[in-house]
Amino acid sequence: MNDITTELHAALPPMIDTHCHLDDRQFDLDLEEVLSTSRKANVSRWVLIGYDPERWDDVIVLAQRHQGMVHTLGVHPACAPAWNDQVKLRLKALLASSGAVGIGESGLDFYRDNAEFEVQAAAFTEQLELAAELNLPLVIHMRSAENQMLDLLGDGRRIPTLLFHSFDGSERLMDFILETDSYVGIGGLATRQKSDGLRKQLKRVPVERIVLETDSPYLVPARQKERRNEPAHIATIANAMADLIGITPSEFAAQTTTNAEQLFGLNHVN
Ligand SMILES: [Zn+2]
Repeated sequence: MNDITTELHAALPPMIDTHCHLDDRQFDLDLEEVLSTSRKANVSRWVLIGYDPERWDDVIVLAQRHQGMVHTLGVHPACAPAWNDQVKLRLKALLASSGAVGIGESGLDFYRDNAEFEVQAAAFTEQLELAAELNLPLVIHMRSAENQMLDLLGDGRRIPTLLFHSFDGSERLMDFILETDSYVGIGGLATRQKSDGLRKQLKRVPVERIVLETDSPYLVPARQKERRNEPAHIATIANAMADLIGITPSEFAAQTTTNAEQLFGLNHVN
């Protein structure tokens, strides 16, 4: 981040990175500096997404150590083979004892060479049911799996509040999102001019349903030199999206912060 960018972004209302993996080893050496840069860009709260049972303890400790950090716990489709009754019981216990603000990320991913459908679907639907039972939002990871996902969600199950993280869906998925009042997580993908189909769908989302995310250290936004993504880039995403939907970056930042507070049950800060 150069100084000019930081200054420009500091003019925006406080923002929240609703999806980041700051427990990743890539932040081991300089996390405090990354957080300080983030605060300067007015991104002063972070939702850490726990996706692997083996990392849940680290995620909890990290969130407890930092002001402004909260966390979710779940089992990512890439970790779906680890799902069993014992893991489910541990998840339930840790969600309660650690004060997690949601479940996830969980979902389906047939883009990578993950487990077969049945294995991923079992882990996903049980987390979906758990979220409904505990009245927690579910953070959904979905890649090359849209029809399978919609079939599972439309199967007469109780649907909790859903957040489609790193949204990259079609018209059919967007129809579902609008019907169910689900949330859409918008990150670096939306800043790429090439993502025309995506940007067309994003224009349909009511601004009350959008939250911002970086997925740090993954998904570096367009026109950035660094290879590691950081929460400070939320401001870049806010500017790009505000431009796309035609409202001011300040209005957009304020509204998406309110949305994230409502979704995750956080206190209102302005
Ligand atoms: Zn993620």
